[in-house]
Amino acid sequence: MKVLPSQISNLESSLSATPFFSLIFTGNILKFFFRSIALSLFSFLSFVVTLSAFAQPAKDDTNNNYRKGVKLFQEKKYQAAAASLTVAASSQADDGEAGILLGYCYYEMHQYQKALDQYMKVSEAGKRISIKNRAQRLAATLDSYMRGICPGNCLKPSTPGWRKMAVPGKPDRLVWMVFPYLDQAGKGGSEYWSNDHMGELIEYVNGRPVNKGPCPICSGSGKVSLPK
Ligand SMILES: [Zn+2]
Repeated sequence: MKVLPSQISNLESSLSATPFFSLIFTGNILKFFFRSIALSLFSFLSFVVTLSAFAQPAKDDTNNNYRKGVKLFQEKKYQAAAASLTVAASSQADDGEAGILLGYCYYEMHQYQKALDQYMKVSEAGKRISIKNRAQRLAATLDSYMRGICPGNCLKPSTPGWRKMAVPGKPDRLVWMVFPYLDQAGKGGSEYWSNDHMGELIEYVNGRPVNKGPCPICSGSGKVSLPK
């Protein structure tokens, strides 16, 4: 309660000086003094009560809107879910979960740019690193889909690093992707695949690059599309 006196004096100083002086000269100063302390104390206490009363329901409201949004989303009522989640996501009490689910709603409604914007927003403003990372991955994947490019690690024209190489017995028309490795003895080497292997997934297994065959996401086409 140490804060109380200064709060009272602050509140008092904000009162108009004119009635204060007129009260002094009417001899009612003592009466005014006690009345102003009582008033200030009341103002201060009601201010504190208002603040704490405001803080709790704000969080509850966010939770309620979030829960409502989840339920509506599960019922595939995306428009209504988005309305509840917009409210929940705009609150300081949201850690980013409501924001991500709002992005899902836009995605389901095929409003891809709005979904992407939403994921980007959470990737920057999310309250937990795990949520920020999740939003960032969703944004990257959706961005890739919107450009029609498979978000997987399959070989595709847009993969950086294609180069011309003189490979004995192989035609000159080919370009190559080099996958370097370091074996367990610390000896380096590289494997390479040409653009005849577009859409195939090259993954490192025990430190060595392995061709896993056609990419399961794009079925080896390197291209994807979103529902219209
Ligand atoms: Zn793919």
